[in-house]
Amino acid sequence: MPSQRSPILRMLAGLALAGFLAAPGCHSLIDRGAPLVPSRDRVRTGPFVIFSNSNLTPQSPAVRCLAELERDFAGKLGVAPARETGGIEIYVLDDRETFAHFLKFYYPELPSRRAFFLARGNERLVYTYAGPRLEEDLRHEAAHALLRGAYGELPLWVDEGLAEYFENDLARPAQLRQRTERLLDDMAAGWTPSLERLDTLEDVHQMTPRDYREAWAWVHLMLDGNDESRARFKRLLEEQGESHGELKLAAKLEQAGAARDAMRAHLLELQSRISAVDPAEIARQPLFPPLFGR
Ligand SMILES: [Zn+2]
Repeated sequence: MPSQRSPILRMLAGLALAGFLAAPGCHSLIDRGAPLVPSRDRVRTGPFVIFSNSNLTPQSPAVRCLAELERDFAGKLGVAPARETGGIEIYVLDDRETFAHFLKFYYPELPSRRAFFLARGNERLVYTYAGPRLEEDLRHEAAHALLRGAYGELPLWVDEGLAEYFENDLARPAQLRQRTERLLDDMAAGWTPSLERLDTLEDVHQMTPRDYREAWAWVHLMLDGNDESRARFKRLLEEQGESHGELKLAAKLEQAGAARDAMRAHLLELQSRISAVDPAEIARQPLFPPLFGR
């Protein structure tokens, strides 16, 4: 789904979060006597520590989806999150209103959104609220946190493309129907995907909903195209991390076969796979409008 989410880290790294996170319950966290960030319940799964007021348990869907994300991340990228480097803190606020108040209080410069990821030094933090798309939002933002831990800072489109890729339950391809069909429609109407153009984007505000879809599609092609493309992509991600982001990843991917015709063929193949899914399963997939602001 298109959104303006986690690259907040690019905007906020270094902002004055210090203090209120380091000292939960300190005065700056309190607004009229009520803590803005939930602290009542804490549950841990893998590298994630989830704070909420919602009585979450390891069996709650919001917790299980994070365990599944960790499994998918390790399965697709071959990277096991390093647990010894400290957990990823996830704060699930009570509702949209509380979250909006939290944002207004601490991040008045930010547009409305449903969730965001923040990296500050070695800390990785996710903020969101208990809404109808909580699991999708958690997977997306937590994927940014895992990527940050595994590779450091990635090019914007790679970071967003991977987070979009992992936000879906990979066992339910019907969830990919909407974006697959929209990209194919755009291609039929004359639009041409371009890795070179995506690679010029440095600010999330430059990214359109279609840019998110395109970033997802390139990642999907590389990770699900074939074993060779996945191995090349993983190697490039690792080299990107070692080079501290100085590799020209798009150019390398072009050399690795991420060409436009390959993307179209991959999307058509994906579309036919989705069509083969039980229609009842497709009907169960919610059709959300393309929203900005997660
Ligand atoms: Zn994101």
